[in-house]
Amino acid sequence: RAKSDGRGTYRRFEPAMDAQVQSRRALELDLRKALAGGEFELHYQPLVRSRNGEISGFEALIRWRHPQHGLIAPGSFIPLAEDTGLIVPIGEWVIRQACRTASRWPEHLHVAVNISAVQFRYAGLAEVIVGALAASGLKASRLEIEITESVLVQDKEGTLAILHRLRELGVRIAMDDFGTGYSSLTYLQCFPFDKIKIDRSFVRDVATDAGSLNIVRAITALANGMGMTATAEGVETREQLDRIAAEGCTEMQGYLFSRPLPADEIERRFLTAEGPAMPDRFAAA
Ligand code: C2E
Ligand code: MG
Ligand code: MG
Ligand code: MG
Repeated sequence: RAKSDGRGTYRRFEPAMDAQVQSRRALELDLRKALAGGEFELHYQPLVRSRNGEISGFEALIRWRHPQHGLIAPGSFIPLAEDTGLIVPIGEWVIRQACRTASRWPEHLHVAVNISAVQFRYAGLAEVIVGALAASGLKASRLEIEITESVLVQDKEGTLAILHRLRELGVRIAMDDFGTGYSSLTYLQCFPFDKIKIDRSFVRDVATDAGSLNIVRAITALANGMGMTATAEGVETREQLDRIAAEGCTEMQGYLFSRPLPADEIERRFLTAEGPAMPDRFAAA
């Protein structure tokens, strides 16, 4: 049945629409196979302390090593995984894998894992996290979960209950992509987040645009005033680094320091015997 255009008449199926549905089905099937076949991998990007360039931890970011299409970024398949509910088993794999990898890192380093809003609507997220911590031996305080404002929009009470449960375990909670969703300030009031990640869109023009600088300044002051860590996402240049550090932003992340890298490369580059190496460009600062 073709969709109504909302004015009581029916449009005919367009071939393009049909093709779109077909390719979505194919992708969904591919996603199931990918999970079963071990085609997902996690890359890790350093989180760097603004004060001295030390690495405090790494954010886990999923990639799909597709047999035909090569490495696929999450933006191309996470939305469909969310629509189909496949994000639940995929997300469980992510949590387990990230905890296992981080358990091999030095004690002072944490791992941050992105949790989709859809994962919160399914029962058992807290159990999955408890299970992953137990299986890996990772201390709860070394796990940080990143959620976006959309999580709180959908089921505020339910989400808050889970967040409080995770907090009691010792898991840290970060608000991701801050400033891009709805009702940001209300949500900061209902839950004591450990960290606010300032969205890359504000960081991008911080050295050239007064409006962006003002937003970064305001979010940083808000975070610092509420006892939260402020983390700037997407720092790519020395100019951005200097501006953001001057605003008192505690932590940074971006291509300036490192792109997300596979776990073995992270170990080679940052976790060698000499101890966590300072990213070159920061050391030169
Ligand atoms: P995010 O959590 O905000 O992650 C940061 C994104 O910015 C990552 O993109 C990262 O590679 C990119 N990035 C970091 N530094 C820079 C920079 O200096 N410049 C630019 N241009 N980009 C930078 P990625 O890996 O493509 O991930 C995109 C989004 O996909 C993530 O945004 C997150 O929302 C989602 N995602 C990634 N992994 C997972 C996962 O395991 N589970 C879920 N549910 N979502 C995930
Ligand atoms: Mg994130
Ligand atoms: Mg983010
Ligand atoms: Mg972002």
